[in-house]
Amino acid sequence: MWIPRDKSILSGPDRGEEEAKPAPPLLSANLPFAIDPSWVLVESGFEPGWEHEIESIFTMANGYVGTRGSLAERTSLSSPATFLAGAFEASEAPGGTLELTKLHDWTQLRVLVEGVPLSLETGTTLDHRRILDLQHGLFFRTWRHEDEQGRVTALTCVRAVCHHDRHLLLQSVTITPENYSGTISIESFTEGPQPGTPWSSRVEGEAAVIVRRTDRGTTIAMASHDKLRHENSQEGAGNSPVEGFAEQWTWRAQRSEAARFNRSVVVYSSREVQDPAVAASEHVCRASEAGLDAHILQHAEAWEDRWRASGVEVAGDEMAQRALRFALYHLNSAVNPKDEHASIGARALTGSIYKGHVFWDTEIYLLPFYTFTDPPAARALLQYRFHTLPAARDRARRLGYQGALFAWESADTGEDVTPDTVIAPDGRVVQVLTGIQEHHISADVAYAVWQYWQATADEAFFLAAGADILIETARFWVSRGRLEPDGQYHIRTVIGPDEYHESVDDNAYTNVMAQWNLERAADTVDWLRSRRSDVWPIICERLQVKPDEPDAWRRTAELMTTGFDRSTNLFEQFAGFFQLEEVELQAYRTLPAPIDVMLGRDRTQKSKVVKQADVVALSALLWERFPSAVHEANFRYYEPRTAHGSSLSPALHALVSARLGDSDLAARYFRDAAAIDLSNHRGNAAGGVHIATLGGLWQAAVFGMGGVRLREDGLVIDPHLPSNWDRLSFPLQWRGRSVSVTIDHEPGQVTVDLRTGEPMTIELSHGPIQEIISNHLYVAHRTGSGWGAWQESRRRSG
Ligand code: BGC
Ligand code: BGC
Repeated sequence: MWIPRDKSILSGPDRGEEEAKPAPPLLSANLPFAIDPSWVLVESGFEPGWEHEIESIFTMANGYVGTRGSLAERTSLSSPATFLAGAFEASEAPGGTLELTKLHDWTQLRVLVEGVPLSLETGTTLDHRRILDLQHGLFFRTWRHEDEQGRVTALTCVRAVCHHDRHLLLQSVTITPENYSGTISIESFTEGPQPGTPWSSRVEGEAAVIVRRTDRGTTIAMASHDKLRHENSQEGAGNSPVEGFAEQWTWRAQRSEAARFNRSVVVYSSREVQDPAVAASEHVCRASEAGLDAHILQHAEAWEDRWRASGVEVAGDEMAQRALRFALYHLNSAVNPKDEHASIGARALTGSIYKGHVFWDTEIYLLPFYTFTDPPAARALLQYRFHTLPAARDRARRLGYQGALFAWESADTGEDVTPDTVIAPDGRVVQVLTGIQEHHISADVAYAVWQYWQATADEAFFLAAGADILIETARFWVSRGRLEPDGQYHIRTVIGPDEYHESVDDNAYTNVMAQWNLERAADTVDWLRSRRSDVWPIICERLQVKPDEPDAWRRTAELMTTGFDRSTNLFEQFAGFFQLEEVELQAYRTLPAPIDVMLGRDRTQKSKVVKQADVVALSALLWERFPSAVHEANFRYYEPRTAHGSSLSPALHALVSARLGDSDLAARYFRDAAAIDLSNHRGNAAGGVHIATLGGLWQAAVFGMGGVRLREDGLVIDPHLPSNWDRLSFPLQWRGRSVSVTIDHEPGQVTVDLRTGEPMTIELSHGPIQEIISNHLYVAHRTGSGWGAWQESRRRSG
């Protein structure tokens, strides 16, 4: 995968570039390196205008720490950052509130030849590439620089934010004077995230340690261990401290003789250990003993495990394959299954937009990926919401409701951190109402809990946390609306997913999700009473559930206004939507600015212009609840009126259009979603990758093109591959089993392999149902509009 400078990263390699595959770096012959172009992102040359996007896209992260792909020596345009998941501090940015904590910048290095720093902005760049190896989770850089005296220096760098050991960060640089002998220095810095951030530093044994305390009382320590080694000797060069927290090594380099600088950094915070400084310094010294290459190999193995558990393969469509690899790289980088007090912000650990705040994006767009490929990660993310229940209860109480209202924007404790105001594109200060009105988040969290429970049957989680979330959110919905004289239950003054329309009544998405939430809470109580009568009294006591509450939930659900019209099969997006002004969106699609900017806020509010999947999101989430004629009618009505003003929208449209069998439209929406980061289609990838879109791409492929849905005792598959996808295959986890699914376009064929676990059921939509057992392959062929019987054969080998 290549990133040519003047076009989209999505487009394939140019002919010339294809031959010029990146040379494996000169570090060690044993280091892993993906040379298959579909597994690497390559940015050749240096384009200052793209720098911030490249930094986001090339971020390395492990759900604990995330480091942007900035150039080690920095340029005037660099925007480096290393984020620590789950730790927040007061934001000085407009709008205040909390933002994700930035760590000291551990990647900064300078190489000097005869005292003059090498820079992409001076001398001549003979060759320069940044390479992201998605397969092994490694960031490489190769650079040949010629200075004004004609001296050519080659640098090869590798960086890793480790997955086998989440506290460990690695960086290595090999420096070779190609055509000269002379004095070379390397300076390593550890700079504070912003000037004026108070920190202290000390040396513990061989480690240099920086300690900082945030204004929320979190202590963070970073210990680093640096070493310089010449190619032909075991001796490390002497180092000497220079100004600030920096070190310098200087040596007399012989022509063509390489020297390698290794830096290991370990991060701990008081979120995990009592004394982060001691933990970090001990850990870094231990880690350095094993050597950097040994760690890189273990890190690469950890990545290979993740690809085995989650990798989606698409044959026939290189762009789709690339986009999915990129998406899964970031999804697997964003989560830490070991931390149940942190969740994933709207830009994960890749950039500053939305300050690391957690939205419904996590539950609706990301959770399905983890639930079906990494259940411990999904569980940790749901536990995060469970730990924020006290804040959600408080919030409901303060707004005059009962139960739990999760924060629209959540940080560490779950208090709402939505800013009160933002600066609009035209410079005006605009009041933000989402924090007060966007309440569907409570049903979204409940939805993710239920889906996780259905897909994993993780009873320990359900009994200790999941049931509480379902019950407390149901209570919120009972109190949030009112039974009105028309005999219907109404929820007034909300914002639905379509945020262009504020203070609306009876948003269909909110009401139907609330209705669903109320029903599932009642089901939860039924299940607990009948199946876990041993635990039910404990939960009942813990939550003070009154005997008549579940009936009240069901009654509220039955009387809920949904805006559904039987004669047209349409949901009205909210009360009065059908009366709004019709705007021909087509006329605006080619213009560069978002529709709400072009029409203005007031006119947008009065128009049938939808920001993002809203009623269409209901189809994506609650497919079984409505007949396909309802999905079809609503999709055809709302799709032309949707402006996709949020990056979340195209992927869900791909999913729903695939399920409706409109494969060409699905492919188009899939491409649109893929282009959001890789072609910077929204113009804001600089602020971090759109992680929800990336989760949406996985859902579009697996739930849309693959048509996977849950059934009580297994999975349903309903394939709808776009015409240019020859084959789609993916692994899934279901209730402790590992299944792999392969769909071939021609001849229409589905192959299922239960790799591990007890028997389960697979159903082909409008086709046969089969109990499958491990070590057997099951193949079914398309016959006209349906499917022939499954054929079973023994699998030959593992
Ligand atoms: C988003 C809202 C968010 C607000 C403030 C807007 O761009 O659409 O969901 O609450 O920013 O962060
Ligand atoms: C979208 C929200 C989303 C937020 C963060 C907004 O533009 O409208 O649905 O939660 O961005 O990604």
